Amino acid sequence: MEQVSEAYVKLVLALGTHDPDYVDAYYGPPAWKAEIAAAKPTLDAIASRAETLTKDLRALPAPGDELATLRRHYLERQLAALSARVRMLAGTRLSFDDESRALYDTVAPTFAEAHFQQILDRLENRFPGTGPLVARYESWRKDFVIPPARLDAVFKTAIDACRERTLAHTTLPAGEQFTVEYVTKKSWSGYNWYQGNFRSLIQVNTDLPIYIDRAIDLACHEGYPGHHVYNVLLEQHLVKDRGWTEFSVYPLFSPQSLIAEGTANFGIEVAFPGAERVAFEQTVLFPAAGLDPSKAAGYYEAQALVDQLSYAGNEAARRYLNGEIDAAAAAAWLERYALMPADRAQQRVRFFDQYRSYVINYNWGKDMVRRYIEAQGGTAANPGKRWAEFEKLLSSPRLPSGLAVAR
Ligand SMILES: [Zn+2]
Repeated sequence: MEQVSEAYVKLVLALGTHDPDYVDAYYGPPAWKAEIAAAKPTLDAIASRAETLTKDLRALPAPGDELATLRRHYLERQLAALSARVRMLAGTRLSFDDESRALYDTVAPTFAEAHFQQILDRLENRFPGTGPLVARYESWRKDFVIPPARLDAVFKTAIDACRERTLAHTTLPAGEQFTVEYVTKKSWSGYNWYQGNFRSLIQVNTDLPIYIDRAIDLACHEGYPGHHVYNVLLEQHLVKDRGWTEFSVYPLFSPQSLIAEGTANFGIEVAFPGAERVAFEQTVLFPAAGLDPSKAAGYYEAQALVDQLSYAGNEAARRYLNGEIDAAAAAAWLERYALMPADRAQQRVRFFDQYRSYVINYNWGKDMVRRYIEAQGGTAANPGKRWAEFEKLLSSPRLPSGLAVAR
């Protein structure tokens, strides 16, 4: 198993030499990276090596316990996703759903326009007037932008609160920490770069105005109990404690990303369940941002409705990547059904170009994780159990298809 594990890490690094977005994190031996950079295997060589490795993996004796069994399935599925990504880089075009099944081990549900329209109708009542709804929504939302001069302070306050809540339920290794950087000209709004030794670099994109809800969302999603904690727990429990080297590399276009994004998004609710969040926003974050605290409850009521439009983004991506609509039509769809203003819609289409069916990992991933945790007894009514199941999921190699089976 150790040999297969090492070969897998090198294979992921090899594919990274062909695809700059592929290796999201690597903190294994630096010599392996140097070895691969020098050898730079071709896509064909990577494809045939993945095939051999899968056979080697299947030929190994049956694993002893549940975690080792999860490990085995996980590695086999990660290898299958790697092979799919190789085929894509070699020119194979999969449909949106076939691609997400191959890369993320799941297919997101499809919704018709009528589904979004009934949510939009409710928003029409919330923001009455003439002209496009998205324009009325945006003009109302202007009062909730974090002033750039206060952004860093607000964001750090949010991170401290998310960390405190996470540490109340989860034991993290000493020395874990991250640094925050502000960047521009990216297709994403935030990114966590895990660096190993329990450290992360979190980047926040300031191309577009940052609304107050992003403070807690980003702090939880990228930091606590999201990506940073997920990577820290994998490093601690699987890489350091068990010596499972394959977890020292994180290939972005793989089932691991559904678990990563799904837990990062569900983690927001785990750390800040509805009413607690509004109270915190009202008493701490709105004042820190210089915003009117009396408007906090109304803001989050409207946002909860807008959040229900999240799957409209998947529909735009599905149609666009399937070649049914062009970039302009995809942006127009996002404006109409996901209520994104033009600049944000265009940024999102650039995200589709770069990350493709990855989009489903955020909303569908979150829903899959929530259902799984709730099926284990981790309901909102039982927060202690919810945190415990959440931590368990973050510390184990469970596949997206494994979340569905457990329902
Ligand atoms: Zn993320």
